[in-house]
Amino acid sequence: MKLELFPSQKHRYAAVVAAVLLAVTTVTIWTLSESAAVSTKHAGATPVPAPPALAENPEALGLQHYEGSIKPRMPFIAAMLDAGIERPVADTIQKHLGTVEFDFRKCRPGQTFIAQVDSTGRLYAFNYVTNRLHSYWISRDSSDMLRASTWETPVETELLSIEGSVETSVYQTILGMGERPQLVADYVDVLGYDIDFIFDPRVGDRFRILVERRMLDDEIVGYGNILAAEYEGELTGRVVGYRFDAGEEDGPGYFAPDGENLQKAFMRSPLSILRVTSGYGMRTHPISGKRKMHTGIDYAAPTGTPVWAVGSGTVAFTGWKGGYGKTIEIKHSGAVKTRYGHLSKIFVRKGQAVRQHQTIGAVGSTGYSTGPHLHFEYLVNGKFTQPRKVKNPSLKRLEEGQMPAFTSEMGRIDSLWMNTPKHIGELRRNAIAGARSPAASKDA
Ligand SMILES: [Zn+2]
Repeated sequence: MKLELFPSQKHRYAAVVAAVLLAVTTVTIWTLSESAAVSTKHAGATPVPAPPALAENPEALGLQHYEGSIKPRMPFIAAMLDAGIERPVADTIQKHLGTVEFDFRKCRPGQTFIAQVDSTGRLYAFNYVTNRLHSYWISRDSSDMLRASTWETPVETELLSIEGSVETSVYQTILGMGERPQLVADYVDVLGYDIDFIFDPRVGDRFRILVERRMLDDEIVGYGNILAAEYEGELTGRVVGYRFDAGEEDGPGYFAPDGENLQKAFMRSPLSILRVTSGYGMRTHPISGKRKMHTGIDYAAPTGTPVWAVGSGTVAFTGWKGGYGKTIEIKHSGAVKTRYGHLSKIFVRKGQAVRQHQTIGAVGSTGYSTGPHLHFEYLVNGKFTQPRKVKNPSLKRLEEGQMPAFTSEMGRIDSLWMNTPKHIGELRRNAIAGARSPAASKDA
């Protein structure tokens, strides 16, 4: 990978790095400096309480120490017994975990546990590690009663602007900066009604994301809200949205500066950018040589990739449709239909109502198809129509009376966003491994 050539460049080499990076067709990155980022402790001003603990010196207390982990297709109780824990103790553990809504069906391979049992065979303490951020505990209280609890590891939340220009794809650019796929997914959720992040990006397009990032020991462990998101592209123009609570039931939404809701009748893409990462190569039509006219968009993606409805509507057709293979058609309002072809699986029935973003099928290679891909097209009054020519009305825009509050919130967000120096971020070595796409690793 070209990015590995520059694992430790510092921002004082910004200009040189930028020039070199552009020259080798990779990414240029700006992030806010740590010192400028607004930093808030998860637990506020109060000291963080300590988590429950196991006995530090179990031998001195005459405790038996059992360690184990969940293995594939192994139920919780079997894992306990597998670690050598006696059945009555395992039952006690299970009973107490039930009091803190431990979901035994959600045990995952690799999750670990430790049990300490006293010389009379009673449980002394137990710890189950779900992940770095979450664990379950059973310990004895001051009156020697067992008590179960959960522990959330405190994380630091920082607000920062993640910015860059697109080279290969938005997904790979953002991952190349050391960010996580979740950020890309959240960003696409905000702007994905105006932009098809699979097809629309062009080299040199720019993006900015003002987001709360959760950190633990200098490692990204997740993201909070995106406060604002912007994309400026050759094909897309400039699209920007600010998070604002307009009092809707489903919570805050994103609005353009003129008060228009960024959420629209149709999402631009019928599958997740996280699964379709091969960049420009996918613009070729795998079957275009075999049909007189190709009337849709082909998304190359691994078999089984979930396909969602781009808008709410009613299923008008499911089944085999000639060269399209297994096909779904959805009827939306305004005489618009969407068609999804070459599917491997269909999850909906004719006549069924579907919501926007609902998974309706899975990518396959049925019909005239040389490899797994989704054929997607719009039909308006029965005629094929280019996606950008289909009317895509906004959902409820802000009312006149809401505009002053929105304008003031937008100003607040803008000053957070703009009054901060920018730096070229370091390209992190660990980001390179993470940037490998699911499709690429599958083919490898
Ligand atoms: Zn096609």
